[in-house]
Amino acid sequence: MKGIIMCCVAMLPAFEISGCTHRTSLPPVTINSPAPIRQYPPLAAKPAPNVPLFTTPPTIAIEPPNPWKPDAELRDWEYIVIHHTASSTGSVESIHELHSKKKDKSGNAWLGIGYHFVIGNGNGMPDGGIESTFRWREQMHGAHAGDTKYNQKGIGVCLVGNFENDPPSEAQLAAVKKLVGVLKAEYNIPGENVQGHRDVKATACPGKYFPMSEVAAAVDLPVMLGATSPQAPVPSTKIELARE
Ligand SMILES: [Zn+2]
Repeated sequence: MKGIIMCCVAMLPAFEISGCTHRTSLPPVTINSPAPIRQYPPLAAKPAPNVPLFTTPPTIAIEPPNPWKPDAELRDWEYIVIHHTASSTGSVESIHELHSKKKDKSGNAWLGIGYHFVIGNGNGMPDGGIESTFRWREQMHGAHAGDTKYNQKGIGVCLVGNFENDPPSEAQLAAVKKLVGVLKAEYNIPGENVQGHRDVKATACPGKYFPMSEVAAAVDLPVMLGATSPQAPVPSTKIELARE
């Protein structure tokens, strides 16, 4: 009897330790030995916050180098001539309507919009949206420069806006630089042949606030422009060919 009592007393501390351990589920070494934690500073083990483990390819990888490539046989382009509409609103359609009423020196009606590209400002067309016209798709001469050489050899690009009053929007500037960069690269047009309308005719076009030298120096950079819409519908009115 005495032996049994002593045995039970001796076992009590063992039960207490065991019970405590089960309730907390923490191993004794963690509670009593903080030293190992100091060996692994949590900050040192974290990856740099701005370095992603995986990256997706940039969007430009799927963008064709020249989204405006025409199906028609290429014309021998030598110049790019930049214009503004000198109006606060405008679109391919509205310019087409205006130009369709014009007549050349011989009295023949224009074929329609005289430019090859129009870049919108948010009033009539998306801000920075680029639309090609039937003249570009069919690789036809332009009716924009007031000079035969530049109409025959120059790609006419018109931005909606009056840049005698205000500069083009950021989206328009990015769009025209993108377009000019692609056209220069694609058709081997040197920067000095990217000209404002005022460089080839006595006019204020494209306005004193248009950054002509900055645009002429544009190169084709891998920039994705969400507003770009080269596939947008454009009037393709067929009128008898006229001298413009
Ligand atoms: Zn002009």
